[in-house]
Amino acid sequence: MNQVALGPASTDLGAEARLRLQQYLRVDTTNPPGHEHAAARLLASWLEAEGIAATVYEPAPGRANLVARLPGDGSLPPLMLLHHMDVVPADADRWSHPAFSGHDEGGVLWGRGALDMKGLGIMQLVAFVELKRRAANLARDVIFCAVADEETTSEYGARWLLEHHPDEIAADDVWNEGSVGLLGPHGEHLFGIATAERGSLWVKVTAHGEPGHGSVDRPDSATRRLIRALARLEGPLHNLELSVESQNTLRLLGQMQGGLEGWLLGNLHRPLMLRLFGPLIARKEPLLSSILASTCNTTVLAAGSNVNVMPAQASALIDIRMLPGHGPDDELAWLERTLGDPGLTFEVIEARPPTRSASQGPLYDAISDALRAEYPGCAVEPIVTPTGTTDSAFFRLLGARASGLLPIVAPLEQLKTMHGDDERITHDQIDRGTRVVVSAVRQAATARGSAKQQPF
Ligand SMILES: [Zn+2]
Repeated sequence: MNQVALGPASTDLGAEARLRLQQYLRVDTTNPPGHEHAAARLLASWLEAEGIAATVYEPAPGRANLVARLPGDGSLPPLMLLHHMDVVPADADRWSHPAFSGHDEGGVLWGRGALDMKGLGIMQLVAFVELKRRAANLARDVIFCAVADEETTSEYGARWLLEHHPDEIAADDVWNEGSVGLLGPHGEHLFGIATAERGSLWVKVTAHGEPGHGSVDRPDSATRRLIRALARLEGPLHNLELSVESQNTLRLLGQMQGGLEGWLLGNLHRPLMLRLFGPLIARKEPLLSSILASTCNTTVLAAGSNVNVMPAQASALIDIRMLPGHGPDDELAWLERTLGDPGLTFEVIEARPPTRSASQGPLYDAISDALRAEYPGCAVEPIVTPTGTTDSAFFRLLGARASGLLPIVAPLEQLKTMHGDDERITHDQIDRGTRVVVSAVRQAATARGSAKQQPF
């Protein structure tokens, strides 16, 4: 798979995507440190070869963000194709093939980032250059945006771009990561398009007490006060309730699972079922707890230095995540109430509200249509991203509709390789995914329907 024809002569878009992805996967963008600059230069060279100007911004040495734009006639506000260039580290000893070799064998392309998320980035790039090659009559500007630093804090990536060049990336519709198609027990194709994400509240809680010798009883010491308070968090899940997106997510997971457990997941929207089985399911499958309720974990504890000295302070860092419908302020009030000690002090380290977009609009509809054409009879639902957050949150907070999906169908075994070992994508997944992205982007960029925001 070396010098296959790229550029205007390319007729096999799947083969083109495979070749470009292989080259992209060979650029090591492990974050930290990121070093996205080499990746941005590669993308820029491809775009420039197609006659598309690309701007590479450098927020810090080695870090880079790329923005390119195809102008439309302004009938609709811009559409953005967004992906992050950085990847999480790969443990070389645990991989079957080197993580940055672009190893291609037996119809499978290996590499860190194949799924998260250079794969979607390349499908978007192919769709973007196709618009240019075919001189598509665009109803809106289409922006191709590749960012740094998503895998840590986005400080040098989406956040930096939004702060320094907001006009360059202002868009109404944003296609980003956030979900992958699942396979049902009878070969069903199940697609959740991520339209909502959880919010987060990180708090430092500190207990104070008289310091002194560890040899006497001190129930009011900082450490004992903190331990008593934290023990009160071991109650039932709070905010156990299902939004529409949570119901859809559970229904798709239930369809994937099949059997009695699958039926249970599909029926958890019934209040009695949720009350009876929600806590059990959350305990058995921690990943599902993130769809059912707010979650709260003590992640860091700090106090003292000597075994025989009572410290004056003891502190804990607490990670709370909440679903749409709740906010960091409610969660902070809940935390203060639950810990139940007026002597504790609370410091908010970060507060990000949950975000959600309407599940209608030119992009969401175009993705749904393209999926149904490529996978006849498939299920398509708007869902909430089960685990972390993505850069979509920043754009939703500015009023954009963000849709998250890598439009391939992958078995669970393969999905575990994201942030795990042996990340890979098959040729068939690249081919079909590229067809979906090319078709959906063309529809979303050229349709001249109403772009009015739908009320949620
Ligand atoms: Zn990602």
